[in-house]
Amino acid sequence: MSDASARRAAIQTATSRPGRSLPRPVDAEGRPARVSQLFASRVFHPERMKQRLPPEIFARWSETVEAGNRLERPVADAIAHAVKEWALEQGASHFCHWFHPMTGSTAEKHDSFLWFDNNGRPIEKFTGGLLLQSEPDASSFPSGGMRSTFEARGYTAWDPTSPMFLMEGPSGRTLVIPSAFLGYHGESLDEKAPLLRSMEALSRAASKLCTLLGTPASRITATVGPEQEYFVIDKAYASLRPDLQVAGRTVLGAAAPKGQSLEDHYFGSIPTRVLGLMEEVEFELYALGVWAKTRHNEVAPGQFELAPVFTEANVAADHNQLVMRTLRNVADRHGFAMLLHEKPFAGVNGSGKHVNWSMQTATGENLLDPGHNPSENLRFLAFLAATMLGVHRHAGVLRAAIASHGNDFRLGANEAPPAIISVFLGDFLTKIADGIVSGKVANLPPGQAMIELGVSRLPAIAQDNTDRNRTSPFAFTGNKFEFRAVGSSSSISFPTACLNAAVTDGLEQIIRWVEAGDDMMAAVRKAFTESTPVRFDGNGYSAEWVVEAERRGLPHARNTPTALALLNTDSARALFERTGVLSRGELHSRYDVRLELYNKKVEIEADVLKELVDTYVIPSVIAEEQSLTGATNALAVARRGAVDAVGQALLETRRAVDTAVSGTPTDDLMAVATYLCANVVPALEALRGACDAAERVVADHRWSLPKYREMLFVNG
Ligand code: ADP
Ligand code: MG
Repeated sequence: MSDASARRAAIQTATSRPGRSLPRPVDAEGRPARVSQLFASRVFHPERMKQRLPPEIFARWSETVEAGNRLERPVADAIAHAVKEWALEQGASHFCHWFHPMTGSTAEKHDSFLWFDNNGRPIEKFTGGLLLQSEPDASSFPSGGMRSTFEARGYTAWDPTSPMFLMEGPSGRTLVIPSAFLGYHGESLDEKAPLLRSMEALSRAASKLCTLLGTPASRITATVGPEQEYFVIDKAYASLRPDLQVAGRTVLGAAAPKGQSLEDHYFGSIPTRVLGLMEEVEFELYALGVWAKTRHNEVAPGQFELAPVFTEANVAADHNQLVMRTLRNVADRHGFAMLLHEKPFAGVNGSGKHVNWSMQTATGENLLDPGHNPSENLRFLAFLAATMLGVHRHAGVLRAAIASHGNDFRLGANEAPPAIISVFLGDFLTKIADGIVSGKVANLPPGQAMIELGVSRLPAIAQDNTDRNRTSPFAFTGNKFEFRAVGSSSSISFPTACLNAAVTDGLEQIIRWVEAGDDMMAAVRKAFTESTPVRFDGNGYSAEWVVEAERRGLPHARNTPTALALLNTDSARALFERTGVLSRGELHSRYDVRLELYNKKVEIEADVLKELVDTYVIPSVIAEEQSLTGATNALAVARRGAVDAVGQALLETRRAVDTAVSGTPTDDLMAVATYLCANVVPALEALRGACDAAERVVADHRWSLPKYREMLFVNG
């Protein structure tokens, strides 16, 4: 197709699409309902369980969950009955185990409650057995080689620490049972089990350190608040872009003249149509018990953000999946396409997921909060130092944790965190860390040492950080760290599990130093000293930093294959085995699955770009050339020259892609990934360059693919 009629029609649709609004929910008296009244209305949360379960059953459930034991059958049966009755009252007809396979998204298989009684009459039935376990066909999910050594079957098991909820369909509801996904011998096939294990490991080490610090704490939770960035464009455009449909990003498209050069979008007023989308998204999330809190425009045109209030890491991970799913579903109802990809548009800011992370005691004390007195300050410094040490020792694992084809377009580009993991502390803490490292305080008793350092002023940190460095992939922001390098479409589970594991290692090292006779301050000093190279407050986007980081010995993996190689190391294996987060085989499966995913994504992009070039771009250029055949006036002749040059470049780069693709090795996954990354990705980029040059010379009425300017700026 080489005319622009479909594109013009899409612009028409996009600019005339009516907004969508919902009747405001009301309370029992007909007044506008408050969010607090709507909150978690579709969640079978502990309070609701308490109301609906016999007291002794509820007590046994609480004990079992607290102790992390297996639920007994009679307790499960009673819970199954109660949740079924609640779900039926709410109009549910089905239930499903909902799990997180290693694809990074979610999976579910629905069954209805329908059964029959002894007389063959229809009834609704749900048992403890059905609640506890289900057996989807594991063979259709990635197992990363574990299938060759284990049986192909797998099962899902209810995770009782994450509450069940009702999912809304167009005409019905489904009871969703958050679950872990395991192979037949208990090996984890999902993103959830490693996260839960990492939280256990972190809790053990952190509470031990608390005890050594004289402030015992029984259970420590990793807290996470992931800020979700996304783009929306009108669905009419997306339906004309095969690349958005299959790859989630545009594989070609000339930069819009305006781009984000005026920087007028960030925190600007939210377009009405988008606000309508956000309101409906929040309304759904509230019902699901997701603490949606902040909404605003992001840096790029068409880019926005949703941030929840932080919560326990595993719940945050479930909720982030619900956020992504709700964003997609609701966007569709509003005539938008939701783009969660890390880099949907070249030359425009990409999207990340800032994973805010800290550790919290059972009484709600934040261990990365500097506190107000010297003993709290010391605890803060110990946890800070442990985090630094863990991040420094395992920077490679953290880099690998965020590696994906999509993130390759973002990391290291000039508006995204660099592909080098470093930690930003801010001026004030840097001074303190340097003071500790230089030994200024070594021989003073702890309380006095803190005062000597000016540490009694620690609460000033939050202020110090208000003007913080946006170029750091891992920044301290007052009372938490912000892991900014995570990709916008990725699950937060694995990055968080890796972070928990790394910090566990840092904590355990400090504990070992103290147990071997160091006082706490000496151990803190060792940790700050060893982790000095990972501390960097300068401009992470600069070329000098790349050189400096190399001098410091920090890993710099520029792309997914080299990043994933960092998982396949003795030190990574030792970390995951020691902390109990992943066995050797389980770790290898993550490595394999991620490589395979990378390879598939590159191959898909190659396919769709070739299709677009052969069936859209080249026909448009040919039509343009034909229209100029025989022209003699000066303008047309000049134009003819430009079109010919573009045509020549297209021909050459298109052939180069075929040559590159045909050389793809067929041996192991890493060889394929390395080859694709070094040969096919650059060939695709070159072809894209030729396409974008063509878009700039072909007459607008002959260009059929929606242009960047339209997708980003013309959305009604
Ligand atoms: P920003 O300026 O980056 O938007 P905010 O203070 O708004 O920073 O916080 C961003 C995110 O950090 C929110 O999701 C918030 O809930 C989360 N957050 C705040 N405190 C913690 C904590 N102790 N642990 C984990 N996440 C936290
Ligand atoms: Mg932030």
